[in-house]
Amino acid sequence: MAARSLASCIFCKIIKGDIPSFKLIETDLSYSFLDINPLSKGHALVIPKYHAQKLHELPDEYLSDALPIAKKIVTAIGATDYNILQNNGRAAHQLVDHVHFHIIPKPSEDKGLV
Ligand code: 5GP
Ligand code: ZN
Repeated sequence: MAARSLASCIFCKIIKGDIPSFKLIETDLSYSFLDINPLSKGHALVIPKYHAQKLHELPDEYLSDALPIAKKIVTAIGATDYNILQNNGRAAHQLVDHVHFHIIPKPSEDKGLV
């Protein structure tokens, strides 16, 4: 399925390079970069190159491209403990309406939930 973009979306702008980001891994279907407001060192985001607000609206091919990228990032940064977080909708704390996976490394001394 072809990439889909929304002009007003900040993550679509990041994919296009209109907003700068610290890029990690890019494929034909996905883009990953460091979170601008990290919850821990190495906090990264993986996003599909397809504008959809919520996970269930995303074509499967984009979904299956994203998690292996999360796996590569976790391995590359050597995180042993980490959260993969994916919020859908305001009540679930989604602030940016473009599907994204958080990769949040957890240093061993950090006992917080997220
Ligand atoms: P949400 O609450 O929607 O799951 O998380 C959105 C995430 O996107 C937040 O962690 C926030 O710091 C990050 N974010 C928002 N705008 C930008 C941006 O312009 N650049 C980067 N790198 N991260 C962003
Ligand atoms: Zn978007």
